[in-house]
Amino acid sequence: MLGGMQDWELRVSGLIDHAARAHPGREIVSRWADGNQTRTNWHDLRSDALRMMQALRRLDIYPGARVATLAMNHSRHLASWFGITGAGCVLHTINPRLFDDQLEYIVNHAGDRVLIYDSQFQPIVERMRARWPTIEQYICFDDARNAVSFTDWIAGEDGDAVWAAGDERAPCMLCYTSGTTGDPKGVLYSHRSNVLHTLAMIQPACLAIEPRSCVLPVVPMFHANNWGLPWACAATGAKMVYSQVNEPTILCDLIADEKVTHVGGVPTVWFAMFEHLDSTGRTMPPFRLALSGGSAVPSSVVERLMRAGVRVVQAWGMTETSPIATVTYEPPEWDDMTFEQQVECKSRQGRPVYGSEVRVMSLTDPTCEAAHDGETSGPLQVRGPWTIKRYFEAEEDIAGPGDWFDTGDVAAISSDGTVRLTDRTKDLIKSGGEWISSVDLENAAVSHPDVLEAAAIGIFHPRWDERPVLVVVKKPDAAISAEALREYLTARVAKWWVPDAIEFVDELPHTGTGKISKKDLRIQFRDYRLD
Ligand code: ADP
Repeated sequence: MLGGMQDWELRVSGLIDHAARAHPGREIVSRWADGNQTRTNWHDLRSDALRMMQALRRLDIYPGARVATLAMNHSRHLASWFGITGAGCVLHTINPRLFDDQLEYIVNHAGDRVLIYDSQFQPIVERMRARWPTIEQYICFDDARNAVSFTDWIAGEDGDAVWAAGDERAPCMLCYTSGTTGDPKGVLYSHRSNVLHTLAMIQPACLAIEPRSCVLPVVPMFHANNWGLPWACAATGAKMVYSQVNEPTILCDLIADEKVTHVGGVPTVWFAMFEHLDSTGRTMPPFRLALSGGSAVPSSVVERLMRAGVRVVQAWGMTETSPIATVTYEPPEWDDMTFEQQVECKSRQGRPVYGSEVRVMSLTDPTCEAAHDGETSGPLQVRGPWTIKRYFEAEEDIAGPGDWFDTGDVAAISSDGTVRLTDRTKDLIKSGGEWISSVDLENAAVSHPDVLEAAAIGIFHPRWDERPVLVVVKKPDAAISAEALREYLTARVAKWWVPDAIEFVDELPHTGTGKISKKDLRIQFRDYRLD
């Protein structure tokens, strides 16, 4: 016997229908690279998305086909998200910062048939066109000189159409991981996984997104499902603010002018914002919630945001988990905690949201779970209805028995269920048979007021196998010496963790999503020798 309720397929087109019906006038603001600012709303965005679906059908692009975007954050890109998925096609968001070989690989692997891009990426299109044989049609979001313009393309349609129907488990979106080892791998979200992820995200304990919210995703739309924010905003009718350019001045102006309540970005976004505030003497524009993810947020950043009255929600996840798996929601005893305890709580990776289960395996016996003592760390595994089962076109599941997916991260779980990430498996530094957490070293270093960014890597050592070397970017005008920083670290980490060498550099290499690229740093330090 089945339940007696309506069997409603959970498809993302239902989210935009809701936004357009219940919150038609709620705005979506775009700040373009040329400084121009435009405004649309959920009602008009839905019309554009419907017209786009009709335009796709006119090109003979039907459900299941892959349609790619190569674009920064703006409302036309957002309309295309709903147009492509509403048409039953698979939205493939391409990271423009990938290397040419990766760009060639992912477009051909995805079999993309249409590419919609920002004119700033025209050079990529010119360079790659011959290597992208599957693409039949190029459309440009913001220019009409080199390709059909997006606005002209959909202008001929009337928007009088209905979304493609289908199974909620059908694919709706394809995001490739950056491929730090081997070729990039495609994570294929379903309509159902995205809708369920949305419902988890908007709850008060998680991001508390509601109709009064105004959300500024600084995280690029091509990165990890844009952290699910477009779907969450549609589900609640929240206002959205997008900027094609991520300059701290522009972001601070937008936060103030548009009354932004939620800002989502990787830690480097907060570093850049603080640097801007410090160098201009400007005060932090008021906003309610900072969503920080992608890499560990240092407690000094958490503290500064909290002192400015901002609720900090650190989230841990990955492209393979849609991406949110754990968040630092406030525990029941929050109000009785000291400020320092609250900062410490927000500096960990948080607890799972409903729909995401985590466990840590023992490093010594991989068949057993590690104790929940907050100290014992091991490989972190996750499962749930928005966690990956199998990469796109792979022949085998990546999730193991019981659907557990090995994340490649190393973590410890406390007795209250809080996850603390100690490293990525491949970034751990192995010294004399013991593990040193590069993340803990980096956190200790950036808590020094003169340090802007720091990265610890393992360098070959003839006696200890590997020893940590810390690569540091100082704050402008800071005068700290390696000796002083070493002394500072000695008071904060185990003695044998103190780096053998501290190197100051002008900048660290970053990935397309603003994370420090340890892979590139290791290449830079390939010939570095320790005796
Ligand atoms: P990529 O693999 O290209 O960096 P992802 O965004 O999928 O792209 O990266 C996921 C990884 O980022 C996680 O496995 C983890 O190592 C790191 N990460 C994400 N969120 C956090 C966080 N809050 N704290 C520490 N590390 C994080």
